[in-house]
Amino acid sequence: THFGYQEVPETEKEHLVKGVFSSVAGKYDLMNDLMSLGVHRLWKRFTVDLARPRPGQRVLDLAGGTGDLAAAIYPRIKPNGSIVVSDINPEMLAVGENRLADRGIIAGVEFVEANAEELPFPDREFDLVTLAFGIRNMTHPERALKEIHRVLKTGGRALILEFSHPRWPGLQSIYDLYSFKLLPRIGELVARDRDSYQYLVESIRRFPDQETFKMMMEEAGLERVDVFNLSGGIVALHRGFRM
Ligand code: SAM
Repeated sequence: THFGYQEVPETEKEHLVKGVFSSVAGKYDLMNDLMSLGVHRLWKRFTVDLARPRPGQRVLDLAGGTGDLAAAIYPRIKPNGSIVVSDINPEMLAVGENRLADRGIIAGVEFVEANAEELPFPDREFDLVTLAFGIRNMTHPERALKEIHRVLKTGGRALILEFSHPRWPGLQSIYDLYSFKLLPRIGELVARDRDSYQYLVESIRRFPDQETFKMMMEEAGLERVDVFNLSGGIVALHRGFRM
């Protein structure tokens, strides 16, 4: 039929688009593994453990493009829980959607293109909000924090994972060597993109330290905020509650 004929090029295009996104995701994952020596998987696992998702909960994963956290959270909230994966970048969202579909996770997951600084969700919608390695790149992180507080239910929790500032004595100099010498070189070799990885290093430097970020969360209205330094503070996990 006429419609049948039209459907063929659509399907082919979808197929191609998926291929492109998978190759981007593949490189992204490889870079994450190389840069963190595989440890980002442990940081994310720790985050999900502290998030303590429970069956039936409604969860929002902000800047969740890769789908990593959603894939780990989903098995703990089913059968009647639901998760919204939200990201400002539609291509990253497509990556996450494919990854979750590959793992057979389709029902109960929604993908929403949105700026975390201006969320299209009602007040008090979620039991849990997670945000991994996304807030550092936001223009107004304090707005995103206010939005997180707004969409949380009373008693709901927010988990924010981000690069931070090393706390172990001696670690700083090794970390400097790694981030200023080695990392841009890895970026050049693997992604052919030295500048992006240079930018990455600088954005980590500029991002507020553990105590400052804790204060920012408190200013946004989150309470009982505590900080977990991971890998000596190279990464910090902040947890806060809406009371
Ligand atoms: N959370 C995922 C993870 O840990 O694997 C992805 C982290 S990735 C380094 C950063 C993500 O933040 C990207 O997908 C990017 O599109 C998203 N992002 C950046 N600014 C954003 C904003 N203002 N609102 C929502 N997402 C944003």
